[in-house]
Amino acid sequence: MRHALLLTSLLALPASAAEPPRPPKALVLKASRLFDAKTGKLVSPAQLLVVDGKISAVGPSATGPLGTEVVDLGDATLLPGFMDAHTHITGEPGDDWRQDVLDDLQRTVPEQTLDALPLARATLMAGFTTVRNLGASDFVDVGLRNGIRRGLTVGPRILTATTGLGSTGGHCDAGNSFRKGVLAEESSRGVANSPEAFRAKVRENLKYGADLIKVCATGGVLSRNEDVGSPQLTQAELDAIVDEAHARGRKVAAHAHGAEGVKRAVRAGVDSIEHGSFLDDEALALMKKQGTYYVPTALALKGVMERADKGLLPPENVLKARTASSKHRESIRKAIATGVKVAFGTDAGVFSHGRNAEEFGLLVDAGMKPADALRAATAVNAELLGVQESLGTLEPGKLADVVAVPGDPLQDIRRTQQVFFVMKEGVVYRNDRAPVASPAAR
Ligand SMILES: [Zn+2]
Repeated sequence: MRHALLLTSLLALPASAAEPPRPPKALVLKASRLFDAKTGKLVSPAQLLVVDGKISAVGPSATGPLGTEVVDLGDATLLPGFMDAHTHITGEPGDDWRQDVLDDLQRTVPEQTLDALPLARATLMAGFTTVRNLGASDFVDVGLRNGIRRGLTVGPRILTATTGLGSTGGHCDAGNSFRKGVLAEESSRGVANSPEAFRAKVRENLKYGADLIKVCATGGVLSRNEDVGSPQLTQAELDAIVDEAHARGRKVAAHAHGAEGVKRAVRAGVDSIEHGSFLDDEALALMKKQGTYYVPTALALKGVMERADKGLLPPENVLKARTASSKHRESIRKAIATGVKVAFGTDAGVFSHGRNAEEFGLLVDAGMKPADALRAATAVNAELLGVQESLGTLEPGKLADVVAVPGDPLQDIRRTQQVFFVMKEGVVYRNDRAPVASPAAR
């Protein structure tokens, strides 16, 4: 399977990978349905004209000049390329957490980057043409983002946060699993402990290529020596981080499980709350009032529980995973009921990359309408990421990021796990139905 995918995508690439892959001049995409991410409704039949990597026309008149290649995907639904607002695309867990820790300490930065290439590929092939990466070490994420942009390797468009910011011993302190002195200071690069020190960290991350800022406002599930819900940053620290990032036109994503940490982050003006396992009514009301996005990452909790059940997690983290999971679904339900803007993010990297679309089903299981789950990963995420002018819907003038799933995903949301066609900026990276291209019939 993996080899077949490789072949398909290689065929779409130019002979030399030293420049971005060039889309065909013009191409018509047809299918039985198209998901309108603006209205949440299906349009039937679907016809889309792609010219120079952009959507040029939609509807029956979207034909292009005589001889334009037509790709007819048959009984399928075209959707905007999916976006995952929470990934860690530079790594994923192995089968032994002790070994994972050692591996991380032993691999050189170039090796870490090479290890990330198949993860980026798997993400794109699952239909995710854009990801927002919320935490990576050694700027591997920046290199990967730039390499994909330059056409050196295949993967989604990446907006990245580089190293997450947090307090000493907190969830974003990579050193908190080790005894003092084991890790080089660089491993805790995002750690600071005062408003001014955090301002400097924001500036440093932006200097080295971050597109946005990630902060750890509370404890987390997979870290040690802290509990999952407690706040880890003061109001003044969060205020400084958001003020500095927003002044420079960058967004802030806050990892936060407990309600107090969530409220501080929302009051500071962060753009999204990640995880939010223990949201209370006051936190939800604040989020709604401020327009803060909620990225539940239901798949993160599922992935962590799978690892816990297989005995692949330290006991301390198993306990935290159970505590967070027991409240998480209720938080999602309440957020939907309150009218908080729910976005789509998975925390891929906590589990294997390429499983991202499982989040759709989990959101629907938690009470979301299928159309809203699809909108979360497309139009809503485009707004959260600040790319709504060029992505998120299939409309003329936008970049041609298009995926296709068999059948009707509004009838069966888990069709999103069967993506068989992936186009990014007009380049076809995957088409399992391998249609025979034919000149446009007129
Ligand atoms: Zn994360």
